[in-house]
Amino acid sequence: MAVATVREYGLFIDGSLVEPASGEVRELHEPATGEPLARAAIAGSEDVDSAVSAARRALDGPWGKTPPTERSRLLHALADAVHASRKELVELETRNVGKAISSVKGEVVTAVENFRYFASAIGSIAGRSNPIGGSVLSYTLREPVGVCAQIVPWNYPIMLAAWKLSPALAAGCTVVLKPDPATPLTALRLAELAVEVGIPAGVVNVVPGDGPTSGAYLVSHPGIDKVAFTGSTRTGSEIMRLSAEPIKRLSLELGGKSPSLVFADANLDDAIPSSVYAIYYSGGQSCDARSRVLVEESIYDDFVARFTETAGRLKVGDPLDPETQMGALISETHRQKVHDFVEQGRGEGVEIVTGGELPDGKGSFYPPTVLAKVDNRMLVAQEEIFGPVVSVIPFEDEKDAVRIANDNRYGLVATVWTGDPGRGHRLARQIKSGTVGINAPYSAFPGFPFGGYKQSGFGRELGIETLDMYLETKSVFVSTGSKPVNPFGL
Ligand code: NAD
Repeated sequence: MAVATVREYGLFIDGSLVEPASGEVRELHEPATGEPLARAAIAGSEDVDSAVSAARRALDGPWGKTPPTERSRLLHALADAVHASRKELVELETRNVGKAISSVKGEVVTAVENFRYFASAIGSIAGRSNPIGGSVLSYTLREPVGVCAQIVPWNYPIMLAAWKLSPALAAGCTVVLKPDPATPLTALRLAELAVEVGIPAGVVNVVPGDGPTSGAYLVSHPGIDKVAFTGSTRTGSEIMRLSAEPIKRLSLELGGKSPSLVFADANLDDAIPSSVYAIYYSGGQSCDARSRVLVEESIYDDFVARFTETAGRLKVGDPLDPETQMGALISETHRQKVHDFVEQGRGEGVEIVTGGELPDGKGSFYPPTVLAKVDNRMLVAQEEIFGPVVSVIPFEDEKDAVRIANDNRYGLVATVWTGDPGRGHRLARQIKSGTVGINAPYSAFPGFPFGGYKQSGFGRELGIETLDMYLETKSVFVSTGSKPVNPFGL
């Protein structure tokens, strides 16, 4: 099905698309062409109130009464519906975000798999009886935390919406999801599909809006029980403050400045193209982008030359072309931020081996950029640039590699390239990050917990432990007879 490129999107509240009480509708443009894409409603505080009330009604009403087996069936049905609508969703996402359609296809597949994983994981939600002995029987119940505010950024709109929605719905929670106002379209379609497959109205509400206004209002809302946030560390810190009054459960998936560590004994035929993929996938606009490549000194010059040659073969261009590997960045404003970092690096004396120039022409494209002679203390090695820019940093030996890898406030992902399996496992224990890959560039699969150490946040997505973030544990105990129940002897 082709995407209707001129369409007006409302907010999704209580089972249908509605006009915003705020009255605000914004024009969205395709990052790759600058052409108009759609008009999308922006939620104000009154709309957030309506969405939170709808979510509460659904929790206290039909969704709260839906048994786990039925929740599982509905999540599988949603997975089927997303799969059946994948062409439409992939095209919509590609046009809205500007990244390569080849990447977006994978992200939609991941969204489907994530719904399936948590649909099945519902079977694992169970309490336990505690063998405390004597005359008391004790057991635990797992109950949904309640109404969840879920806030997601613009870089993976449908995939992150699925990462957030699937464990919440599996646990029996209801949701008010706030996408970035620039990229709300696939999340709105997802909510429509949820209702179409039979998930009751009010379980999934979607209120695109600006962070500092609608987002902050949602996070502080007294009707919210839990906040799940994905975005920058700076905003995460603000979210932590906002969700404290009244106190809410909180999980944070934040930024990264993740390293690839390449040792001289690595198979460079794998390490080089994989490290190119790990930074330029999604144009570097990825929390797990391996934006620092640490390379053993003895192979540094050769590595930089071969990495640069490989990056030069990336197909950059029209996001809708299936051959494209890197599309446009999300906006010209963001592109300028990326370029400012590169200029900052230039000022600090890094060597710009390739890229680093703002291209002419329409669309917010930026070339794959390689920075060499980078010291790990430089800004380009410490800050998340969130664009197609890699810093290649030399190290002396294993100890030095670990020191540099950990010398950063973030700790999301690391990849180790080595021919020594013992070293791979040794480093997996020494590197402070939520995920470590050994001779493999990937970082996230449904079923494998994903999340941060240090300033990359806390809580885990994708894994069975993610369900815990959406469940309360209640202890129940009962006297079985022989123990005194009259301790005061009254
Ligand atoms: P951002 O923090 O600016 O915005 C993220 C979301 O938060 C958006 O929906 C925004 O509208 C909202 N927001 C902003 N201010 C808010 C406030 N005061 N109250 C409530 N909501 C607010 O991040 P971004 O630049 O859009 O996204 C990129 C960041 O997300 C990067 O740092 C990236 O690493 C991170 N990210 C992390 C993961 C992960 O799983 N760890 C995944 C994807 C992206």
